[in-house]
Amino acid sequence: MKKGKGFRKRGLNVTITHIVRCIRCGELLLAKNEQETRTCPYCGNRILIEKTQKVASAQSAYEASVLLRKMKEETAARKNLTADRGS
Ligand SMILES: [Zn+2]
Repeated sequence: MKKGKGFRKRGLNVTITHIVRCIRCGELLLAKNEQETRTCPYCGNRILIEKTQKVASAQSAYEASVLLRKMKEETAARKNLTADRGS
């Protein structure tokens, strides 16, 4: 029987992947749980994962990338709304 959410099993090959926001340029990027630092691909800033606010977390790198894309789309949609007001 499969009940619960699978958090109990140890030794499962789950890599928690966080979505963090670069404090310098504000872009969102992915960082694996075991990573201590991550270099921002946008501005080259070195980010300390532990000290950076995590916007979201996912159970796999794939899930995280899907989530990241969604968040970026939402941000883009919001920007479009703001731009519409001006015209
Ligand atoms: Zn950056």
